[in-house]
Amino acid sequence: MQLVFATNNTNKLKEVQSLIPKHIQLLSLQDIGCFEDIPETQNTIEANAIQKAEYVKNKYGYNCFADDTGLEVKALNNAPGVYSARYAGLQRNATDNMNLLLKNLAQKTDRSAQFKTVIALYLNDTLKTFEGICKGEITTNKHGDKGFGYDPIFKPNNHDTTFAQMELALKNQIGHRGIATTKLVSFLSKIS
Ligand code: IMP
Repeated sequence: MQLVFATNNTNKLKEVQSLIPKHIQLLSLQDIGCFEDIPETQNTIEANAIQKAEYVKNKYGYNCFADDTGLEVKALNNAPGVYSARYAGLQRNATDNMNLLLKNLAQKTDRSAQFKTVIALYLNDTLKTFEGICKGEITTNKHGDKGFGYDPIFKPNNHDTTFAQMELALKNQIGHRGIATTKLVSFLSKIS
């Protein structure tokens, strides 16, 4: 069976490729000749993931899955959430995003937050979603240089370091995307 992962992020593609059951041939957007920007215009993480998977399914006719992730900060009414990539503007700059978040949280005592990933899968026209949540808190300063996005200011619960100070294997094991991916892989492993 062929299955498209609707992402342009080669790191994500490699990560999932290594986990997916052998009877499934994972295809990239490039593999199916999709070089356009896939619309991502919804206002929830789940709806965005569904929109991306549905777009590829309808336009290209493949079974497909897509993911979307956001950082939800409790004291900021779950912002930046679905707007995480462009929190500080359309330049989508991680340092600008972190600086704005630290500024907006400066006067708050509750620094709890969570990363949420939703993977939407369209398989033979049936939709299924898989959620991964990682709870933690926003640190007062940046720590570490691994990872990407908000990693230097997110410390997962029960750990003493930020994601950016952690080995990737550990982040994948406890992280939002890893949890959602494990659920997807477990589901795919059960179908023939
Ligand atoms: P995407 O939906 O995976 O592209 O994620 C949207 C935005 O959320 C990214 O541009 C990052 O700013 C942030 N983000 C997603 N996943 C992570 C992560 O694992 N660590 C830190 N930031 C992340």
